Amino acid sequence: MTNNEQHNKDIDEIKEIAGYLWERGWAERNGGNISLRLKTWDGKITSELVPIADIPTNLAGSILYISGTGCRMRDLARYPFKHGAVIKISDDVAGYRFLECGQDGTNVKPTMELGSHLELQAKMVASNPEYRAVLHTHPIELICLSHNPKLARDPEKLRTMLWSTMPESRVFLPRGVDLTEYALPGSTQLSKLTGSALDNFDVILWEKHGALATGRDMVEAFDFIDVANKSATIILKCMAAGFTPEGLSQDNLEEMERILINKL
Ligand SMILES: [Zn+2]
Repeated sequence: MTNNEQHNKDIDEIKEIAGYLWERGWAERNGGNISLRLKTWDGKITSELVPIADIPTNLAGSILYISGTGCRMRDLARYPFKHGAVIKISDDVAGYRFLECGQDGTNVKPTMELGSHLELQAKMVASNPEYRAVLHTHPIELICLSHNPKLARDPEKLRTMLWSTMPESRVFLPRGVDLTEYALPGSTQLSKLTGSALDNFDVILWEKHGALATGRDMVEAFDFIDVANKSATIILKCMAAGFTPEGLSQDNLEEMERILINKL
């Protein structure tokens, strides 16, 4: 794939996924934020250095697409560079500069969650550099389940319930969903809880707030949350119909683990 083809694929996927987030009702107002580490970008530098403290050193020279502060996903889906920006981290990690990316000359200030995105991106560079996408959104049914005090205090039970709604959940969420206790949005505490949970799980559900996933691209990150939210929807529909879903048995789940997951 040439650089241009890769650019087009990345940006097309960002637009596609931002549109899904809005259509599903997961992105009210300016809810959610995304970042994608780009392999290359041809645009020239268009700004002075914007200093930021504590950028991890392994992000030196990295180029990222990042959603803009206060931006709406429904707008970003149509105009990704009016509601997001391409930035390059300086080689001395003292800050970032904007790169030219078309549409118009205005540089869009990155999301207030930029610091958390940089921490998670740095973790991916260190442990799994193929992973380039970070997606945070507000999936309705998963958030509903996180309001259930029993499930919120028992992430293992929640994880098993989500896995057991249908075989695909067990297969396409191989490491499952974790739930982190409520923490202030944008706080260092939330970012640290998320970072360590991502070492072991595919989707991190933030109690009474939303979900975050990473992936090799934006489509993969979206798919993790989409599958988990489908399971949450099944659980809630069963409960609304007046019964608790029986779920696949432990034996069913273990069989899939042995036979299907190891073949992926
Ligand atoms: Zn949020």
